[in-house]
Amino acid sequence: MKSMKNTILIVDDEEIVKKSLRDVLKDEYDTLEAENGQEALDMLAMHAESIVVIVLDVVMPVMDGLSFLEHFRNHQEYNNIPVIVATSNEDEGVEQKCLEYGVWDFVMKPYNPVLLQFRIKNVIDKSRMLMSERDPVTGLYTKLKFYQKVRHMLTEAVGEKFAFVRIDIDRFKMINNFYGIKEGDKVLLAIAKELIRISSVFDYFVYARLENDVFACCLPYREENIELLVNDLQINLKKVNKDYNIKVSCGVYVINDYNMDVSEMYDRAYLAAKTCKGKFVQNVAYYDESMIEDMRQEQFVINAVNKAIEEEQFVVYLQPKVNLVTGKPYGAEALVRWMHPKQGMIAPGEFIPIYERNGIIGRLDQYMWKSVCKLLRRWIDEGRNPDPISVNVSRVNIYNPHLVEILNKLITEYRIPPQLLNLEITESAFMEDQALVMKTMKRLHNLGFKIMMDDFGSGYSSLNVLKDMDVDYLKIDMKFLQQDDEFNGKGEKVLTSVVRMAKWLHLPSIVEGVETEEQVDFLKCIGCEYAQGFYYAKPMPVVDYEMYIARERRKEDQSSMNENASMISELWNTRSAVSMLFEALDVPVAIYEYRNDKIEMLRSNTLYERYINIENRELQRKEKEELRKVFSRIAIGNYDYHVEVDRENNKRYRISAKVLGKRTNTLVIMVTYMDIS
Ligand code: C2E
Ligand code: CA
Ligand code: CA
Repeated sequence: MKSMKNTILIVDDEEIVKKSLRDVLKDEYDTLEAENGQEALDMLAMHAESIVVIVLDVVMPVMDGLSFLEHFRNHQEYNNIPVIVATSNEDEGVEQKCLEYGVWDFVMKPYNPVLLQFRIKNVIDKSRMLMSERDPVTGLYTKLKFYQKVRHMLTEAVGEKFAFVRIDIDRFKMINNFYGIKEGDKVLLAIAKELIRISSVFDYFVYARLENDVFACCLPYREENIELLVNDLQINLKKVNKDYNIKVSCGVYVINDYNMDVSEMYDRAYLAAKTCKGKFVQNVAYYDESMIEDMRQEQFVINAVNKAIEEEQFVVYLQPKVNLVTGKPYGAEALVRWMHPKQGMIAPGEFIPIYERNGIIGRLDQYMWKSVCKLLRRWIDEGRNPDPISVNVSRVNIYNPHLVEILNKLITEYRIPPQLLNLEITESAFMEDQALVMKTMKRLHNLGFKIMMDDFGSGYSSLNVLKDMDVDYLKIDMKFLQQDDEFNGKGEKVLTSVVRMAKWLHLPSIVEGVETEEQVDFLKCIGCEYAQGFYYAKPMPVVDYEMYIARERRKEDQSSMNENASMISELWNTRSAVSMLFEALDVPVAIYEYRNDKIEMLRSNTLYERYINIENRELQRKEKEELRKVFSRIAIGNYDYHVEVDRENNKRYRISAKVLGKRTNTLVIMVTYMDIS
């Protein structure tokens, strides 16, 4: 008959020591004995369930105590088994190492039997408290116990191929929230019941509830077995409540390394499970090696973030937005790019979703806001008169209680007019706690910020949200059109009515992802106000954007100059209204032609003639020199220019020059003088 006593594993290479221990402990405990660390690990694999304490010698052949501890610690399923280390000399180094490995207690060799028994009893009591074997809701094993059971089964059934399966319930939180905890427990119990039922089908089957809505099992691997498990679960869970559909996601790791720690098997099954999350049909996903690669990449991305922020590896790219009515650019969206010193440019798709999952995105956002504020400050200082730049505000920041404060501090520090820093908030972030978001938006509005609802149409929000949410612009993704080719034009109708409805709410729309001329025509046709997309420009580095804007503004000047051409011909007509106006201005005004560095006056008003004083040759020469300088500046692209000059009788004038028209090699320039003395 099997003994009901607890088992103590004695790990020691000296027979005489083991015998004395056996004698001391035999009344109360069973004992198992191992010669060295390796033997001890083997015994654990077989008997971990019954072992309550390990008494460990440090100095042993084959595998000594410290190496044993190093292996032992890596097995999560043994975490609850206390280790008492026997020391004969006071080697502080060893003792410290032991403590690092999580050793519970020490005894001195040779053993004092009474003391030893006390120490053993103490650690057993403590470990009992730490480890409860059964989950109170379902009665299934808890994690540690389950890991032990798995290890035991794998060791026992040598030669059999096993799979480790992680099972969890999609949107379990929602069931809890909508139907109450009791209903949630009902679902958990239903799964437990199913697992118990299925366990009778297989010779080997261990299962447990690991946490919340996560279950796991380990069973002989054959594809049919997995199918059976998943189908049974799926079918029987449907019966729990007809009001909602329960979907489980199963991640499967087909075990190929039987020495791997059980917790690592779990990790692999989990990686697989993640790939079926959020997909409507897929219930099962198998682990493959690329997933561990993805996980390493994820780890890399997370670990590198501090350094990347410190070393300013994240840079701002800008993608222009275009006003569809005027055809002119109006501001841009700031998009992050990661310039990694070794890997080169990393696209946001590779790190933003990861940072979003674990909250790091909050810091990255703030880094971007600051970069954009610095940029705006520089542009203002350089007299560039910038258009608004929008930045992305992710969910964690929307729910960050300091958001308003942080943004306010930034615009104060960099002296940025708030209407220049627009905030893009993704539609889905509005949904969790609408009241809170509304309050935050109100405070942002009070400070003068403009808010855009980003990715509208990509999520679940209804049109109703728009009416309640006080945003200033609507950003709609063109991709949401492309998705449904097969719905023959339905998407276009939806887009049309969304843009119309936005108009009723006095919300200008910005459509992003615009790639073709047809799309642009369509958008103009339905009255959409702004567009953003590769058709106009890809996101670009700041210098490129500066050049882009300079180029576009020059184009604008040019086209407004063409309009001016007719006005200029009016000027020569002495009886025209324009001419009368010219004469009526009460400042000196003249029109010059500038060609190949020669200047020639075409026309002036009487005040100008008085100012320049036809009699005074010297003044005329000086004046021409001044104007030549001004015009040469204008010729290289400064279409508006002014200088201040000192003249006789302590007079000081501000000379302003403005290009009215341009023909090949020739500029027509208007000059006005203002007395500022
Ligand atoms: P988003 O906010 O919707 O940004 C628009 C994305 O669409 C950008 O991708 C942009 O390059 C891309 N795009 C623009 N025009 C076109 C087009 O014509 N065709 C196509 N196919 N794509 C176009 P990007 O830069 O790769 O960024 C992807 C997402 O990453 C962004 O989507 C945004 O959600 C996030 N993201 C980027 N930068 C930041 C940031 O600084 N902070 C935060 N929180 N998220 C960011
Ligand atoms: Ca955006
Ligand atoms: Ca977007």
